Amino acid sequence: MSTGTFESLTNKILIGIAGAEPPFECQGDYKPYSRANNAGKCGILKKQAAFVSMLPNDKYLREERKKFLEMLGKSGHWDFERFMHGEAEKVNAKFLAEKYFLARYNTEKGYKELEKDQARVEENKKKRIRMTDRILRPYLNQYQPPEERILISQNITFNELDPIPVYCDMTAKLEDLVIPKTLAFDYTDCNFVNRELEPELVEAVEMSLDPRNHIKCECDGKNILCYENEDCPCYKMNKDMQALRSVNNTEPPCEFNCGFACSDACGCKGRCYNNALLLPHRFLFPLEIFRSDSVIGFQVMCPVFIPAGTPILEFNGEILELGTLNKLGPLYNEHIAYSLQCSFSDDTDFRNFFNQLNFADEYKEVLTNLYRKKEFWIDPMNFGNVGRMISHSCCPNLEVLRVYRKSLSPAHVSLVMVAIEDIYPRTPFSFDYGPKYKIDSKRSLQNYCRCGLFSCQGKGNQNEEFKKLDTFNMALIIQKLHKMRRDAYERNVKRKD
Ligand SMILES: [Zn+2]
Ligand SMILES: [Zn+2]
Ligand SMILES: [Zn+2]
Ligand SMILES: [Zn+2]
Repeated sequence: MSTGTFESLTNKILIGIAGAEPPFECQGDYKPYSRANNAGKCGILKKQAAFVSMLPNDKYLREERKKFLEMLGKSGHWDFERFMHGEAEKVNAKFLAEKYFLARYNTEKGYKELEKDQARVEENKKKRIRMTDRILRPYLNQYQPPEERILISQNITFNELDPIPVYCDMTAKLEDLVIPKTLAFDYTDCNFVNRELEPELVEAVEMSLDPRNHIKCECDGKNILCYENEDCPCYKMNKDMQALRSVNNTEPPCEFNCGFACSDACGCKGRCYNNALLLPHRFLFPLEIFRSDSVIGFQVMCPVFIPAGTPILEFNGEILELGTLNKLGPLYNEHIAYSLQCSFSDDTDFRNFFNQLNFADEYKEVLTNLYRKKEFWIDPMNFGNVGRMISHSCCPNLEVLRVYRKSLSPAHVSLVMVAIEDIYPRTPFSFDYGPKYKIDSKRSLQNYCRCGLFSCQGKGNQNEEFKKLDTFNMALIIQKLHKMRRDAYERNVKRKD
């Protein structure tokens, strides 16, 4: 397996537009860090950790907003503060309520319960729940860090174009700071495949370079826009793949959603609305990794507002087959807990789908094998990105989409994390880890979740009434929480000093 050393990168095929190792705009002392083993990396982080004084919270957020608006001003006009209102807000609240409701069950049972819930909706409308600001305030889910914080790393990515600081807010003394070994990984902002470990997948990647096995468009992105062009092969593929969604895989975290994006191989160079990776690959949003609870571990948040529907980041790592992960022995559980599945075995619908395309027969054969008995996962344990720090929640604000680019092997999948509600500054990012996820060999998330949000089934949520809510009342609570967050943002952050 990967040893996590600089030398071990040489065997890899990088997939994606950004590079996992320099040349990028390198910041800080990359070489000694990347050459060190896990314990060595922890040592470097511990040594450089220092207390920093922050601006008072709201002032800090106002400054970050100002910087962000200035940056957007230079790169065109985008109304990034288009809050959800009116009918859109209602539709979104209903969608979220159903999602939170399903998160209580393992999927199959969840859908049956959801059907019953929908049949009772008129009754439930009459039983409105009491929800004052005081009852809902503990569920606003906005983190207020202390003004003195331990800065572990100014930029864990070492890439000046994508600076992500890491903070610890748990200890009063530097001597007590513990650097968990899970923080000391090699940062990558693209996926890769190891030649020795996954030869069949590497073969597929190499065959996909043949123009017959490649999907790209000639739209110029100026006069002919992919998203408006019925003949754009990428856009067509995107629509066809979205139609596939309900057939296979119905469980979080990568439920249903699959699509196809333009890439740098296209006439538009991927700079078009038919590319869900456009914003994630620009590293548009300033992110921050922090730790405030030893059980929950590191989390990710953003100091500026992010509107619902925005693709925020890609989940990166090493693409490995389940059988390869199994060979890890005792390390298997840890790796699988951090990994996300990117393809499914016995995926008949997807096999039928690509077998109708004009790919070369040999390529179809290779693909057929890859989607028959194998399933691939993206493993960020040794090489990964900020995506691996995102926590589970029963009320997630992100959803994971599977987006293919250039071709259709499991190595062409990107997992993109998209905001499913308006995300206000310093709301920790989260997605639903799904029913397969295990905390350890005995405990599943269902009873032991610590997200503590209003529909959480775990011990972190004290409100028993909220644990049994129907979706009608859940949607009302969601709307109210959104309004409370929006009002606080307008009041404290958007106002001028
Ligand atoms: Zn196009
Ligand atoms: Zn395009
Ligand atoms: Zn295209
Ligand atoms: Zn929970």
